[in-house]
Amino acid sequence: MLKTVAAFDRIGEENAFAVLARATELAQAGRDIINLGIGQPDFRTPDHIVEAGIKALRDGHHGYTPAPGILPLREAVAADVHRRLGVEIDPGLVMVVPGGKVTMFMAILMFGEPGADILYPDPGFPIYRSMIEFTGARPVPVPIREDNDFAFSAEETLSLITPDTRLLVLNSPANPTGGVTPKDEIDKLVAGLARHPQVAVLSDEIYGQMTFDGLEHRSLLAYPEIRDRLILLDGWSKTYAMTGWRLGWSLWPPQLFDLARKLSVNAYSCVNAASQWAGIAALEGPQDQSRDMVAEFDRRRGVVVDGLNALPDVTCRVPKGAFYAYPNVSATGWKAKALASALLEEAGVAVIGGPDFGILGEGYIRVSYANSTENIRRALQRMGEFLAAKAA
Ligand code: PLP
Repeated sequence: MLKTVAAFDRIGEENAFAVLARATELAQAGRDIINLGIGQPDFRTPDHIVEAGIKALRDGHHGYTPAPGILPLREAVAADVHRRLGVEIDPGLVMVVPGGKVTMFMAILMFGEPGADILYPDPGFPIYRSMIEFTGARPVPVPIREDNDFAFSAEETLSLITPDTRLLVLNSPANPTGGVTPKDEIDKLVAGLARHPQVAVLSDEIYGQMTFDGLEHRSLLAYPEIRDRLILLDGWSKTYAMTGWRLGWSLWPPQLFDLARKLSVNAYSCVNAASQWAGIAALEGPQDQSRDMVAEFDRRRGVVVDGLNALPDVTCRVPKGAFYAYPNVSATGWKAKALASALLEEAGVAVIGGPDFGILGEGYIRVSYANSTENIRRALQRMGEFLAAKAA
């Protein structure tokens, strides 16, 4: 029997991938499955981006690149941030990474160890907690509450900080709730962080360009007073429908940048060159397809929220960002994971049970609207029939 290190007894994963595997298995067995479990846009990467990737390979860009990424891409990221947010960032502190996930992996590795506390959103992206546990740090959930419209509360977050807190993970717009934390709350949080200079902040803004109802995403980059301890996580996966290209970027404080670079050298050397050239085309080319995609998500959001609220014993707040609805199903009498599983097996609709996103996820399911309006309507109909039949 091989003996691996104890940390692997504590590592978790993303159940969304297991649901996807089961949904695929059922579909291959001939069942008609509607997948609302998925966390990736159901759109093609815009053609001009695909062409740039192909051209890069034809032009001979198939070798290693510098570990932090090719300079024109890091400069394009800085220019894009300036265009969108009016904030200057140093391209020399931008790391190109193979997907947004890698930034959280690195940041949590840098601050997690036994004796350290790391705060993270619950419900939230499951990899935060998984990696915190892997490092031996204490995971401290920051509750994300329905009655606060799934924004985080500055006061509650600050109240959880102790002298042992090393890292605070934030995510807005949020997975799985679609919650967007308003500017005032973020102002309050940053003001309070002045009392805790030992706390680094990892802000996961991967859905930053997906907000609705005219609500502006408030980036943590807007606060120069925390720039020396801010790690910003962003990437191309969601904004440009590029999940499979494995391309993300992060901004690091000067003190941490070289550690991130060393981790990349030890783990993967660099992101594949063609993806990086495609990333430049994404940032510098036309943005209309990306905007159209968000407009389409907005239309579907209306369909999904109205449809969920019409289901027996289900209520759903209007999500303000990302492409997820997060209905409260506690009044159905089902445990959330059992409901998600029964919906898949019996009604052919894949959704994710809230507990897959944290302890506070009980009573909720995540419904992704990265699927066609027609499929969303069919899924809602099936869910309604299923719940009505079970209640009868
Ligand atoms: N952060 C959040 C909140 C996410 O939902 C996801 C993907 O679902 C990621 C990060 C990871 O993105 P990537 O596919 O670029 O690694």
